[in-house]
Amino acid sequence: MRYDVLIIGGGPVGNYLASLLARDFDVAVVEKKTSFGGKACTGVIGAENYERLGLPEKAVLNQLRGAVFYSKIQSFEIERKSPQAYVVDRKALEKELAKSAVKKGAEYFMGTVFQGFKNGRAVLTHMNERLEVEASFYVGADGVASTVAKSIGASAKAEFLTGYEVEVVGDFERRDFTEVWVNKEITPKFFAWVTPVEKDLARVGTFGSLEDLKRFLRVRMLEPTSAVEFKAGAVGFGWRKPWVRGNVALVGDAALQIKPTTAGGIVYGMFCTQALRKALAEGAPERYWDYCSWVRKQISFGLKFRRLFLGLDQEAIEKIFEVLKSQEAREVIESQADFDDHWRTARAVLRRPSLLARLIKVSPSIIRALL
Ligand SMILES: Cc1cc2nc3c(=O)[nH]c(=O)nc-3n(C[C@H](O)[C@H](O)[C@H](O)COP(=O)(O)OP(=O)(O)OC[C@H]3O[C@@H](n4cnc5c(N)ncnc54)[C@H](O)[C@@H]3O)c2cc1C
Repeated sequence: MRYDVLIIGGGPVGNYLASLLARDFDVAVVEKKTSFGGKACTGVIGAENYERLGLPEKAVLNQLRGAVFYSKIQSFEIERKSPQAYVVDRKALEKELAKSAVKKGAEYFMGTVFQGFKNGRAVLTHMNERLEVEASFYVGADGVASTVAKSIGASAKAEFLTGYEVEVVGDFERRDFTEVWVNKEITPKFFAWVTPVEKDLARVGTFGSLEDLKRFLRVRMLEPTSAVEFKAGAVGFGWRKPWVRGNVALVGDAALQIKPTTAGGIVYGMFCTQALRKALAEGAPERYWDYCSWVRKQISFGLKFRRLFLGLDQEAIEKIFEVLKSQEAREVIESQADFDDHWRTARAVLRRPSLLARLIKVSPSIIRALL
């Protein structure tokens, strides 16, 4: 068997790449699971980019128009007229993308595990059977614990966190609003979220420890015994490099193309697949890194934001909430916030002299960290 491109990992990013490449290249996808979905993921994807990327309407479960932010002692709301983000069914998303790739000519090997490279070929196992597949180019889209990354000697300088998420039955009448809780006394490592899927079902989670999630469920008065699904999964905030070495590239979580502000990785991973397609079409895979400059800028900003968050105590977070809940800040956020471009959102806030002055008063390090 010989292909132009062998993609290892049939998650959202690998399948999206397959659907982008399949018309112009002989493409195969190797996926270790026997069916799609199942990964811990809230499935929140910015609406504008969802449309821009041409992702399937069929996978959308809910539309979010706003968010309510809670700290320990206060809260504020950000509301937009149109949907800002979609909550998707991961299994449907992955399967629809795979269907589209197959229709364009991609071949899928489900239940097949990539083990490593030998003599320029990919060594795979399928039901205890060992096979070798040759391709001109290989792509590791095999997630945060990427075997492909290990095989090419990519190294990570990153913070790895485990996320815990439950689907809870409850009363979520405002199903077009997500809740974001920033209270280090409950969840010290990350914010906690309550994202409605339906009026009576929400995805509730945080990153850190299972104890953090249990504590949050108690404070939010959600019964652990009302949880109908529980999942855990890892993310990595930082850099795993190189993104391309010889005829092997990494995309998506395998390359840690994840927003350190929210742990969203689907859009950035897909943007990078577009960059990879461009580089491959030009016959110059080494340009892939350069073509991902927008995503790299967002990751750099997100890492600064993350360091800032980790250094703040709850008292400082309360002061920042005071500023953000002001009419002026909310107006800026409501008119200019971008779900995936957090650098732009921060700049819009910091460009307002009065908001900048108030934030400097909380701590000059905020401005230093963000700019
Ligand atoms: C709790 C939690 C909540 C999250 N919420 C969101 C969110 O709301 N929005 C968002 O955008 N992102 C979210 N993320 C991040 C998101 O899940 C990832 O960024 C996204 O899954 C990355 O897609 P991927 O295709 O790169 O990797 P993955 O989804 O991890 O897919 C990798 C695929 O490769 C396969 N694979 C692995 N190893 C091998 C191998 N050796 N051989 C063959 N196949 C292999 C796996 O089975 C898997 O199917 C969340 C993550 C967590 C943990």
